[in-house]
Amino acid sequence: MHKLARLDQKYVWHPFTQMRDWAKREPIVLASGKGAVLEDVRGKKYLDANASIWTNLHGHNHPKLNAALQRQLKKVAHTSALGFANEPAALLAKRLVKVGRAVPARRNATGIAGASPSRKGLAKVFFSDDGSTALEVTLKMSYEFTRRTGRSRAPKFLSLQGAYHGDTVGAVSVGHIDLFHKAYGGLLFKSDQVMSPYCYRCPFNRAKPERTDARVTRKCNWECVGKVEAKLKRRKYAALVVEPRVQGAAGMIAHPEGWLKRVGKAVRASGAQLIADEVMTGFGRTGSMFACHKETVTPDFLCVAKGLTGGYLPMAATLTTQNVFDAFLGEYEEFKTFFHGHSYTGNQLGAAAALASLEILQGAESKKKRRALENNLRDELKTLWPLAAVGDVRQEGLVAGVELVADWRTRKAFPLKAQVGIRVCEAMARRGVLTRPIGNVIPLLPPYCTTAAQLRKMVRALREAIVEVLGGAKV
Ligand code: PMP
Repeated sequence: MHKLARLDQKYVWHPFTQMRDWAKREPIVLASGKGAVLEDVRGKKYLDANASIWTNLHGHNHPKLNAALQRQLKKVAHTSALGFANEPAALLAKRLVKVGRAVPARRNATGIAGASPSRKGLAKVFFSDDGSTALEVTLKMSYEFTRRTGRSRAPKFLSLQGAYHGDTVGAVSVGHIDLFHKAYGGLLFKSDQVMSPYCYRCPFNRAKPERTDARVTRKCNWECVGKVEAKLKRRKYAALVVEPRVQGAAGMIAHPEGWLKRVGKAVRASGAQLIADEVMTGFGRTGSMFACHKETVTPDFLCVAKGLTGGYLPMAATLTTQNVFDAFLGEYEEFKTFFHGHSYTGNQLGAAAALASLEILQGAESKKKRRALENNLRDELKTLWPLAAVGDVRQEGLVAGVELVADWRTRKAFPLKAQVGIRVCEAMARRGVLTRPIGNVIPLLPPYCTTAAQLRKMVRALREAIVEVLGGAKV
């Protein structure tokens, strides 16, 4: 065993990992990367097929990101946002507000381009450290806003079945994945859940999943939207929290076109706020800058992390409206201040990386590449349908999830203890492709720099791994 692998096994406790299993085999110790390729300490190369848990955008060791960080390092790595401003964070906040808007920025009454088009447009940025803290900040702001505006004295949140918004206690409280959340029940605040538009396992619409065009139109009366509307009528929620267009940790569940727009309208009509958790879907992952933009929905809160720095550094942000911001204004002694902040809030290195990442992302070359990659991915994924173990193949932009099933005719799931996803991913790793399963779903989220040949290799490895572990074609 490599000495670093031994050190890891002796001292490191890994996230979401059964450490008894971890100790049974030598872990892959990653040492370097270039583009979509990672290399381990033994010199074996792998394709990073889940963009290092959905964080990496433009590839590893990107010259522009490296240069931006080196430039910033010559100035200063970190200064505190508690009491002081800094250049990259100020520039980044301005840029995030601009890119966060669903509708193109119009000149407002003051004639200042880029100013908030309305009090309900995204206008302010609160920085934090990761997806979970972005959600914590948001939940506190929304809770307090709801109380201060007199809408409710004990505000409650509504979120979707299978929702995942992070691992800190507040974020877990609005999550609904039993496996992750049950153990901490006693620690959590109560939130309500509502049906998610998981078409493949929809109790109302039994359209054939392999006919993607039929999924939404056949027999669908938007019962899932009706469920949200009914919940919103029953109670004055502070907010509905959603992962727009794709629920990541629930199994890359791609929502049907139109769900977000309809639900967004229902939330507005009810007077509640809309919280868009774009921690995974942000920064071009679903095809537009933010998933909300695809349905021209403007949330009251937009949470970003993961890809914010191009996958280089932990940094997150909560974008919100002038309306929300104003609810926290007052005389000092009124103590209406938003009492929340972290040591690394507004980190200069992270902000410098984020600015460089946005520059690349908004360039014509990146846009063209992403569009081509999305089409390639669609074509490659078609080759998986013939396999008996493949129940559903979902894609939204550059997010894909392949749901493995024990019986494709009945959609019967494999029991979790069979570790089907884990075994398939191990077989992929032997073929030089890395991703991490979500139960029986295999995610593919290629970095945007992935070439057509690399993408083909990713999907081929998945196809061969499924055949190796679960057998071949549907009969
Ligand atoms: N929200 C969503 C939608 C996520 O996918 C994740 C992480 N997978 C989080 C929040 C939490 O982010 P982090 O792991 O950076 O705390």
